Amino acid sequence: MYDYDLLVVGSANADLVIGVERRPGAGETVLGSDLAVHPGGKGANQAVAAARLGARTALLARVGDDAHGRLLLDSQRAAGVDTAGVLVGGAPTGVALITVDPSGDNSIVVSPGANGRLTPADVRDAASLLHASRVVSTQLEIPLETVVEVVRGLAPDSRFVLNPSPPRPLPSEVLAACDPLIVNEHEAKVLLGGDGAEGSVEGSVSDAPEDWARLLLERGPRSVVVTLGAEGALVASAEGVTRVPSVKVAAVDTTGAGDAFTAALAWRLGAGSSLADAAAYASRVGAAAVTRQGAQDSFPTAAEVEAL
Ligand code: ADP
Repeated sequence: MYDYDLLVVGSANADLVIGVERRPGAGETVLGSDLAVHPGGKGANQAVAAARLGARTALLARVGDDAHGRLLLDSQRAAGVDTAGVLVGGAPTGVALITVDPSGDNSIVVSPGANGRLTPADVRDAASLLHASRVVSTQLEIPLETVVEVVRGLAPDSRFVLNPSPPRPLPSEVLAACDPLIVNEHEAKVLLGGDGAEGSVEGSVSDAPEDWARLLLERGPRSVVVTLGAEGALVASAEGVTRVPSVKVAAVDTTGAGDAFTAALAWRLGAGSSLADAAAYASRVGAAAVTRQGAQDSFPTAAEVEAL
């Protein structure tokens, strides 16, 4: 019997957002709107999304001993996340400085801060939390060696879910544990090395998401999910590749959709759903999240997903 349906090990950031007429160029100063401060970071977002759906959720993260850290702890607790695993201090809370122009294009500078100080030793110290969790989900806004330590510390029967964002090459030990590896189009292409990045062969990856899923599966994960925005998602495992339809909605703001999708998928998998059924549910959660502004503010309750 597990105490938690989902443990998220990941980042917590304060998103500092300013609207501007024009994003500044080098050496330029522009005036913008009033500052808006929102709780964010992929780990914190996933934990809030899962808890709002009704999952018994815990977060293992690190924030600074500062106002941004308290904002993040408050938003986790308000959503019902167990924050006993959130460590405080060592560096300022992670921050994303975001400028958004009227067309919605943004420029973002991230200071990882305390997220970069979530260490393998912190994971070892949280062994009881890992062992109490049916599913453990991580992303890559914390050090990769910390993610490796999570894989090593999993309970024998618990399930590991990874959204490799921001994408970077993954050790085979981590890939082999993923069930599933969850990627969007950009992450899939970077992992497969066909995005024009250094060392990749231009045009070496086909345009078919089914091919990405098959190629990623060959790298070792037990299953793969590719999210395709308004096109829905597809799931791939030894049993084959299956498309998951999207839900047609009027999209207002897609921020956090991937985090809500991942949290919902991880929770449903832990509850015993098949990969395809869990992805279909997660697709409804992602769709609900894009109908509202913001990240954490946009995440639906289970009743809101039912009503969609
Ligand atoms: P990310 O935010 O990581 O780029 P996606 O944009 O692929 O991820 O979104 C994650 C999931 O959210 C999608 O697989 C889909 O189920 C849902 N979703 C995202 N955008 C839309 C949309 N415009 N309409 C309906 N569903 C959407």
